[in-house]
Amino acid sequence: SAAPVGLDSTPTSYPTTHDKIAEIKDTPWFIDNKFVQSAATDFIDLHDPATNNLVTRVPQNTDEELRAAVASAQRAFESWRNTTVLHRQQIMFRFVGLIRENWDRLAASITLEQGKTFADAKGDVLRGLQVAEAACAAPELLKGEVLEVAKDMETRSYREPLGVVAAICPFNFPAMIPLWCIPIATVTGNTLILKPSERDPGAAMILAELCEKAGFPPGVINVVHGAHRTVNFILDEPAIKAISFVGGNKAGEYIFARGSANGKRVQANLGAKNHAAVLPDCNKNHFLNAVVGAAFGAAGQRCMALSTLVTVGETKEWLPELAERAKKLQVNGGFEQGADLGPVITPQSKARIEEIIASAEAEGATILLDGRGYKPPKYPNGNWVAPTIITNVTPQMRCYREEIFGPVLVCLSVDTLDEAIELINANEYGNGVAIFTRSGPTAEAFRRRIHAGQVGINVPIPVPLPMFSFTGNKKSIAGGGANTFYGRPGINFYTQQKTVTTLWNHEDAISTKADVHMPTHN
Ligand code: NAD
Repeated sequence: SAAPVGLDSTPTSYPTTHDKIAEIKDTPWFIDNKFVQSAATDFIDLHDPATNNLVTRVPQNTDEELRAAVASAQRAFESWRNTTVLHRQQIMFRFVGLIRENWDRLAASITLEQGKTFADAKGDVLRGLQVAEAACAAPELLKGEVLEVAKDMETRSYREPLGVVAAICPFNFPAMIPLWCIPIATVTGNTLILKPSERDPGAAMILAELCEKAGFPPGVINVVHGAHRTVNFILDEPAIKAISFVGGNKAGEYIFARGSANGKRVQANLGAKNHAAVLPDCNKNHFLNAVVGAAFGAAGQRCMALSTLVTVGETKEWLPELAERAKKLQVNGGFEQGADLGPVITPQSKARIEEIIASAEAEGATILLDGRGYKPPKYPNGNWVAPTIITNVTPQMRCYREEIFGPVLVCLSVDTLDEAIELINANEYGNGVAIFTRSGPTAEAFRRRIHAGQVGINVPIPVPLPMFSFTGNKKSIAGGGANTFYGRPGINFYTQQKTVTTLWNHEDAISTKADVHMPTHN
């Protein structure tokens, strides 16, 4: 079936082509473990980015529906919080197994709605699945501490769930980002309201179905839809205690400010401008392949895409070879065999990317490889931008200052490592960075001095696996990076600490006078 959301689908039933869908079904929302058609009057049309054919209509849930989702999550919390962590762990094991069984189906939904290639979409699912797998260690991760602090007295710490929490997701990882939130929020005993991107909620809907099958009780995970109105509802609803946001700076800074002002915990991962510094002593072949893959994979629509290259010294002579390799990438519909990158998400996004390329040209940069105007013959109506390389870029140019979020690599050149570090540190974003060198001391100096949260040494996209945390820095994370996603910090974010101090032996209390002073310890 080509339906974007298979309500009774099996793991083997999913779209495999970009063909026009005969019968368009509206995306339902999900409450109390049931898929429900919204009573919405506003819908957001969702188009296949490879064809711009209509795929589904996504409702803007009504206020009544949004309130019902919160009430359901509140009801579910009362019993869910009292389940044992071992019980929740068993559900998580089943959830992990179901994601594996439905891996291709999830990936197909991503290719259809988001546009990335099927092979890349499988990676999107995997990186989320790994968070669910890591969440299975909750009994270990939720252990408290205990210390005898005085004679017959001890202090213990507990981690308790917060209550109803919410997640607001971006379009570029339709499975991974919901899976940064669902496993950790729920295994710690919270109930979750998930708002997927209105541009590609299909994978999140399949995940909701798998949650129900895994044994999550009704209301532990509800999925609501919409754009700003739904976000504003989440920000202002007092019953929602914490918000996880991943997306761009405009929305994220607003959400962090308003959510925090309303007394909620907010974790918010934002935009990026990730640099790679390349030194003449690196393995050139590895560097060329790594940068081409990391700049143009997923059509550059990754928050960790390597979008900025800083050539040090003679490495600027390598740029024509880089362009040759980039040119060989196949830009095509994501279901096509051999496709390396698919379209960008919307016609508006394509227009914005092309406008930035034109601005670079107007500001005096060189378009070494121009991906504008490319159309795969089979899909003339998609949002295509082929790999583009802009050289002779300076930090003042718009193409350097803004996150482009497309298959565009901007290249600057410097003479020394010091200059490269200074340039990268002056950039306001600080998500990921990479250095290519064979020198240990050079790599170590770079690691120590660079202001970015995730550093790759000969690794182009250094996203940490979920036993670590996603550690953006500077403008790439709101709130100074205090609340990062997954890993132990993720467990901390979704739990409230409680400490209990107990005096075990009070039988020898003989004094009849109360002690009014704060105790002093020797
Ligand atoms: P986006 O900010 O446009 O949308 C993200 C979410 O916020 C969506 O659910 C959307 O409905 C909502 N939203 C958008 N504008 C809003 C507004 N003005 N008010 C309230 N809500 C609003 O982001 P996107 O285009 O979907 O995703 C791409 C962005 O996400 C890029 O900037 C990318 O770098 C970033 N991103 C960051 C990370 C990270 O971990 N740092 C990971 C993935 C994506």
